[in-house]
Amino acid sequence: MWSDAEVTNVIVDGNRAVGVRTADGIEINARKVVASTVSVEQTFLEFVDPGDIPEEFAHKVKTEVAHKDWSLFSVHLAMQEFPEYTAAGVRSRREPGVGGEPGHRVDRSARCGLEDDPRADSVEPRPNAAVNSLYDPDRRPPGYSTGLLRQFAPFALADGGEGAWDSMGRWYGQKCIDAWRRYAPNVTDDAIVDWSVFTPHDIARKLPNMVKGDWMMGEISLANMLDQRPLPELGQFRTPIEGLYMAGSTQHPHGFITFGPGYNALQVIAEDLDIDKWWARI
Ligand SMILES: Cc1cc2nc3c(=O)[nH]c(=O)nc-3n(C[C@H](O)[C@H](O)[C@H](O)COP(=O)(O)OP(=O)(O)OC[C@H]3O[C@@H](n4cnc5c(N)ncnc54)[C@H](O)[C@@H]3O)c2cc1C
Repeated sequence: MWSDAEVTNVIVDGNRAVGVRTADGIEINARKVVASTVSVEQTFLEFVDPGDIPEEFAHKVKTEVAHKDWSLFSVHLAMQEFPEYTAAGVRSRREPGVGGEPGHRVDRSARCGLEDDPRADSVEPRPNAAVNSLYDPDRRPPGYSTGLLRQFAPFALADGGEGAWDSMGRWYGQKCIDAWRRYAPNVTDDAIVDWSVFTPHDIARKLPNMVKGDWMMGEISLANMLDQRPLPELGQFRTPIEGLYMAGSTQHPHGFITFGPGYNALQVIAEDLDIDKWWARI
């Protein structure tokens, strides 16, 4: 069993996927199938030789697999305090979105900074704030807590592209903390032990399967749902190459619904291999 190995190729023999090759040149033979949980682009434009898939299908992968142009900006905090929200008067166990003032439209608040450049003075972040150590004390030593701020953010900035996040990430993270602090004033600099950011650019760098930082692994739209996701040709989890399946969040239902795509792919693979489904159907 291999883990942490970078796959570079799906080995195809006579239109059948028979294994994978890693960046170290190791070839791993598939006993039955190859299941890909990375992006459609990686699978069909990088891993598979162009001659192994129909030209028309390759063209569709290049032109019709859609990704949204916005992603997530996160701030991770180690703290010595649990936030105390002025509005609640007590330690809140809720996960608020901060900065949504009366009269703001919720969707507009959540999408703040997407239509406009987040660097503009007029754009204030309104992150979602989570203190997961309230629910899971194992995440922190006694007396400490964790914090996670998440803000929808453009993947590429109008000026500087996605690379601009590298120089402005820390600055924008501070703006998110400041926004939180307005509602939880005890989250002072002294209360914060340390913090770091994970920008949309970081997502794409760490997870090449999340093209443009797309954590849904494909835009969710009416044209890209159910058996049309991510392309009609792939909607049944099978691919133009026999024995090669798509099993990650490129597939129905989509990212954010943990285990859903893999479970669905498993049903199809089991049917094709004539395996008794010993697990309870959901
Ligand atoms: C910042 C952030 C916050 C999120 N928050 C939530 C949340 O609160 N709730 C929620 O439900 N979902 C959330 N998501 C979405 C969730 O993480 C994804 O929907 C889910 O991880 C997708 O699962 P997957 O198995 O399809 O892909 P992944 O979990 O990304 O797994 C694919 C794996 O393939 C690996 N890989 C890529 N290329 C190669 C290669 N060439 N060779 C070998 N391995 C490779 C990647 O390193 C990765 O480990 C969040 C995502 C991000 C980025």
